[in-house]
Amino acid sequence: MTWPSVKGTIILKAGSPNEEDSALQYAAEILKSGGIVAFPTETVYGLGANALDAEAVEGIFKVKMRPFDNPLIVHVTGMEQAEELVRFSPQEAAVLAGHFWPGPLTLIFPKKELVPDITTAGLSSVAVRVPAHPLALKLISRAGIPLAAPSANLSGRPSPTTADHVLEDMAGRIDAVLDGGACSVGVESTVLSLLSGPPALLRPGGVTLEMLEAVLQKKILDLTAGRGEDFKGVPPSPGMKYRHYAPRAPLYLVEGEGASQKQQLVALSESFTLQGRRLGLIIFEESEGVFPAPVVKVLSSRKDPRLAAERLFAVLRSMDSLEVEVIVAEGLEEKEMGRAVMNRLRKAATKVIRVE
Ligand code: AMP
Ligand code: MG
Repeated sequence: MTWPSVKGTIILKAGSPNEEDSALQYAAEILKSGGIVAFPTETVYGLGANALDAEAVEGIFKVKMRPFDNPLIVHVTGMEQAEELVRFSPQEAAVLAGHFWPGPLTLIFPKKELVPDITTAGLSSVAVRVPAHPLALKLISRAGIPLAAPSANLSGRPSPTTADHVLEDMAGRIDAVLDGGACSVGVESTVLSLLSGPPALLRPGGVTLEMLEAVLQKKILDLTAGRGEDFKGVPPSPGMKYRHYAPRAPLYLVEGEGASQKQQLVALSESFTLQGRRLGLIIFEESEGVFPAPVVKVLSSRKDPRLAAERLFAVLRSMDSLEVEVIVAEGLEEKEMGRAVMNRLRKAATKVIRVE
């Protein structure tokens, strides 16, 4: 089978069952020999390498230009493979895994020696999850190794939700991308720590706080409310302190609700337009027509934050290709999936404006 490539990065398209089999075999061989392959998960595309091979993992940090103090999530096929990596697994982990794996929930466990320090950025804990995408699961079992896989974007850029997004950032930097179409969840996994004290939410994602509390029948500590820079001292999860997901143009996020939020959206949009800057608006259906900007992207209805999450990163990336010079985005209520959407928007924002 011959595969197309861009700048030396091979595109493994898994169309027919035959093609899928060859694509998986090719990708698995690269991974087993220490290479890097981007692959689809239900959340975003991951940049995969052998989690137990320090050199391969170092390659991930280098091609992503990711700070070495930001640990990676290790992707496995199930609890059995997870247990090979962790020193112990609390009862709550079994309950959560039973409910949400495969799925967008990452759990933090104390790690075994076997997991190299570089994978966990020197922490004594390791983040593990089982992705729900069939190609991701097949790839991990075909390679027979756990895969460290951060999102397959250059550090700081919006996460990729299609193979084309991966190529925008990674063509010529990685061995191959396994193309499995668009990701369905659209934002990264929820990260939950069960290490000590009450369960702590370190990143909101596809499994919501409300879903976790319903299953565990207890309150979860939400450590994600701030932007990260607000943490005094060491943030509970290293990734929290970095600006993320940013399009090239500065993004102004208007938080709040109702008439005053809309007034602020219009006032900002007007002032940027008067300055002669090409404006991009990111809004919800309920605000359609609020201001005649040259670029307007509607995420979803305010009532459907899951759809907003699915579309968010593609919309942020489209602001680059549409060459907007400044972005005004409308905030959403912070509950259920709205929490994950707002977390990503805040991290993408240059400035957050809160109206009451
Ligand atoms: P990404 O690879 O971009 O999806 O980011 C992974 C996220 O998981 C980052 O926010 C990390 O800081 C977090 N993470 C990974 N491992 C750990 C760990 N052992 N303890 C706390 N947070 C972690
Ligand atoms: Mg990322």
